[in-house]
Amino acid sequence: MTHDPASLHARHQSVLPSWLSLYYERPLELTHGEGRHVWDAEGNRYLDFFGGILTTMTAHALPEVTKAVAEQAGRIIHTSTLYLSRPMVELAERIAALSGIPDARVFFTTSGTEANDAALLLATTYRRSNQVLAMRNSYHGRSFSTVGITGNQSWSPTSLSPLQTLYVHGGVRSRGPYAGLSDDAYTEACVADLEDMLQQTAGGVAALIAEPVQGVGGFTMPPDGLYAAFREVLARHGILWISDEVQTGWGRTGDHFWGWQAHAENGPPDMLTFAKGIGNGMSIGGVVARAEVMDSLSANSISTFGGSPVTMAAGLANLGYLLEHDLQGNARRVGGLLIERLRAVAAGLDLVREVRGRGLMIGIELVRPGTDERSPEAASLVLEAARERGLLIGKGGQGGASLRIAPPMTLTIAEAEEGADLLADALRAAQGRL
Ligand code: PLP
Repeated sequence: MTHDPASLHARHQSVLPSWLSLYYERPLELTHGEGRHVWDAEGNRYLDFFGGILTTMTAHALPEVTKAVAEQAGRIIHTSTLYLSRPMVELAERIAALSGIPDARVFFTTSGTEANDAALLLATTYRRSNQVLAMRNSYHGRSFSTVGITGNQSWSPTSLSPLQTLYVHGGVRSRGPYAGLSDDAYTEACVADLEDMLQQTAGGVAALIAEPVQGVGGFTMPPDGLYAAFREVLARHGILWISDEVQTGWGRTGDHFWGWQAHAENGPPDMLTFAKGIGNGMSIGGVVARAEVMDSLSANSISTFGGSPVTMAAGLANLGYLLEHDLQGNARRVGGLLIERLRAVAAGLDLVREVRGRGLMIGIELVRPGTDERSPEAASLVLEAARERGLLIGKGGQGGASLRIAPPMTLTIAEAEEGADLLADALRAAQGRL
């Protein structure tokens, strides 16, 4: 078999949408992966610090997952939700038990977008209102309804304001931005905004949806406890809290299994959505909700591909591996070391404004050296320089000026150190070119 990435790129351009973004000026064709590494069509090996956009949760080609997929595919590939499948029930049981949501029910979808769509449908049906609050700089998907709650500039049809606003329909704006405030003052200001918004909407809001750590928004974190403070206000008004855990779930942030647990003081969310990592690359998503919320839809709904036995088998094997090997603990230890290393590197570089993050979810915000101006150009240069050195990283957030680091959660200390060195070198090379 011959590989010709250039001709593949030309074919890509002639059949796929122009708005499907490709990283790298010379597009990268990946052919296989193993552990924390992937290979391209020219035989180059890369240390993968982006894990297929946080989807390769444990490792590339994890034998346990590959075996489970092959065995299930050999038995039956598709059943639909009209019939029972053992892997679907078993994975639902495990996720319900882990969710922290009492009397939990699980609905499986095939992506995070669809999971959030389902959560919106459930919340708006349960509350008989079609208004939903979302955060500025958020990303919840790209379907018709999830674009409406996505504040990230590249996807939002409207430019949403800082704490931020909302709305599937209508436009109350919050004040903000709150950068520079202490955590307590930030939380207080946001809560005051929330109260204002709820007054302006006369209690007609169904839900607030938020990512505990904003993923596409550049791995930005609100202060711990922000959503606990929101929760108290929301509960008073009977409004649902939906925690979008598509990027933060399964212990990636190290300290907690779910991102909402950094905001747990006033109880769990009413719903959480998940996707990406649990399938280790298989198409999966889902919603966990309290039974009374989940059951607000009328009977006779189906999902043709949600809960597919092959995907569920992958999820069970992947989750089993994650728990048996305490990958949350690994994310805390190795991620902590990586953050420390990267902060030390950043201290000597003018183009880094901030290294932030938790566990194996690390954002690096870049500026034009000698200025305070965010620099998407710097991010692109670092991405290219890292590729040249055999390291794949992500970017996004802050207008494209942030790098995103989220390796598979089996990352070893030696790999973290190697990746930090490669990235340090790439940052220095990019700084030299700015
Ligand atoms: N929610 C969050 C927080 C995400 O980061 C994403 C995707 O990046 C989505 C939802 C959408 O998930 P998917 O791309 O699987 O539709």
